[in-house]
Amino acid sequence: MPTNPTIAVVGSGPIGSAYARVLLETLPDARVIMFEAGPQLTPRAGASVRNIADPDEKARAREMSQGPQSGAFRASLGIPAGAVVEGMFTARQGTFLLDFGGDGSAHAPTFPAAAAATNVGGQGAHWTCATPAPAFSEKVPFIPDVEWDDLLAAARRLLHVQDAAFADSPIGGAIRTLLDDEFGGELPEGYGVGTLPVAGDPQPDGTMVWAGADVVLGPLIEPGTAESARFELRDLTLVRRIEHEQGAVRGVTVEDLRTHETAFVPVDLVVVAADAFRSPQLLWASGIRPAALGRYLTEHHVVISTVALDGDRMGGLVSDEQLAAELARRAQNAADPVAAVNRIPFSEPDHPFSLQVMYAENPPFPPDPAHPAAGNKWGYVNMGYGVRKHPRVEDGVRFDDDEPDYLGFPNMTIEYALTDAEEAEIADATAHLRRAGAALGAFIAEPRLLPNGSSLHYMGTMRMGETDDGTSVADPYSRVWGTDRLVVGGNALIPTANTMNPTLTSVALAVRGARRAAADLTARVAAASV
Ligand SMILES: Cc1cc2nc3c(=O)[nH]c(=O)nc-3n(C[C@H](O)[C@H](O)[C@H](O)COP(=O)(O)OP(=O)(O)OC[C@H]3O[C@@H](n4cnc5c(N)ncnc54)[C@H](O)[C@@H]3O)c2cc1C
Repeated sequence: MPTNPTIAVVGSGPIGSAYARVLLETLPDARVIMFEAGPQLTPRAGASVRNIADPDEKARAREMSQGPQSGAFRASLGIPAGAVVEGMFTARQGTFLLDFGGDGSAHAPTFPAAAAATNVGGQGAHWTCATPAPAFSEKVPFIPDVEWDDLLAAARRLLHVQDAAFADSPIGGAIRTLLDDEFGGELPEGYGVGTLPVAGDPQPDGTMVWAGADVVLGPLIEPGTAESARFELRDLTLVRRIEHEQGAVRGVTVEDLRTHETAFVPVDLVVVAADAFRSPQLLWASGIRPAALGRYLTEHHVVISTVALDGDRMGGLVSDEQLAAELARRAQNAADPVAAVNRIPFSEPDHPFSLQVMYAENPPFPPDPAHPAAGNKWGYVNMGYGVRKHPRVEDGVRFDDDEPDYLGFPNMTIEYALTDAEEAEIADATAHLRRAGAALGAFIAEPRLLPNGSSLHYMGTMRMGETDDGTSVADPYSRVWGTDRLVVGGNALIPTANTMNPTLTSVALAVRGARRAAADLTARVAAASV
């Protein structure tokens, strides 16, 4: 074991980036090579494409992330780019369906909206940046609360989380007042209507520079820092296989997608953060197959609607001057449609779902001009309830060694079904959404359940557990059971039934995993030197 360990990180999304950052900041002699299958989209590695002002450049960056689906082929799948909404659970620009229907496509008939992004920064270059924290039974039960609070604080710093984004928006404030009038009395203390924390840096003009993996990487991509000298990001480089012998990882085989040359890279630790479907696929392809690999798939189901804000009610809370000032401020950054973000978080026992309410001047799906709510001067909210999926071994992804996917990996088949308990909670959430809509104005899109997979928040397929009892893939520090020097990261680790945006949680789990991996490497270096 050398005194200057080399670490391979597979995937350049927020989670791989969190591992790289914490490991390099903790281990002054370590080196990290980050392998990313997709291209770099922005001059600053991993930046959010939402910050690109030029619409053509933004569209190009999104298309570059869409792997096997792009251009006309994508449109043929019935996902018209014009109907994609930034700021909703269902935004899809920059992603591609796993079951894209072409040659080498995955099979996901019961989870048809499963999607991924292939680019530097991963889905974190396209995400909405909502960063709530888990509550009640959403939390990982075997991480002590005191440590969890510390991990969350570290994750917030890494992601530049703002708890009160757009809190000064009078329209956002009025929306909170109307929702509080409707629901406030039945929600527990501390879990009422509030602003939704988001990741980004507020600007003096009231706009936001949204966070991507770039802010997580921080000093690793700043020229001249000590960390940047020990960090290397290789884009368009696919990790084909994790090489291991006698239960310990010894390196990775990578393919340069520009030249199609493959090479073995020896390393002392591998961190796989290649999303909740492709990470277990890579482990499977490498012959690392814990019984729970790919199983216990969850997401949060999404019931959404769009509401035109009611003029009388809004006018009673916001003056015309305030509205005009807000619209003038917004006009300075027309490229970013999100103007205020509110929520009602998960709480038990009576509100076992999360409501996300995004205010925008224009509705995502333009109504018929004859619709009475078309051109509503008070604007619209796109809002959705996230509803939990209880983990079951039956739900998951299988890999077929005999059928290659479009990249030559064992192809995926996703199996997934809603149970009666979940259908009942979806019905309850839909009723809540009707109440929320009625409190705010008039529906221009009725509440509807989106197809499975629409959340883009896929969890459980490499879940962590307290013991190696066959129901988990990794230990509480994200180390894969039974294979030394292999750590996994991402939403796939989350073992609970979760209703909200999981990235903050996964970054917190990554901080925990990286701290322990650093301690493990330090101990191995010390042991090797005696
Ligand atoms: C439109 C949109 C909105 C979203 N909104 C939110 C939100 O508001 N809040 C929230 O919490 N989450 C949101 N998400 C989800 C969030 O982006 C993800 O939770 C987060 O990016 C996961 O980070 P990750 O690093 O685990 O994986 P990813 O960001 O998916 O990155 C994984 C990377 O691994 C690479 N990779 C895969 N296989 C290989 C291989 N074999 N070799 C090399 N590289 C490989 C992929 O190309 C990809 O770039 C949203 C996602 C999208 C697309």
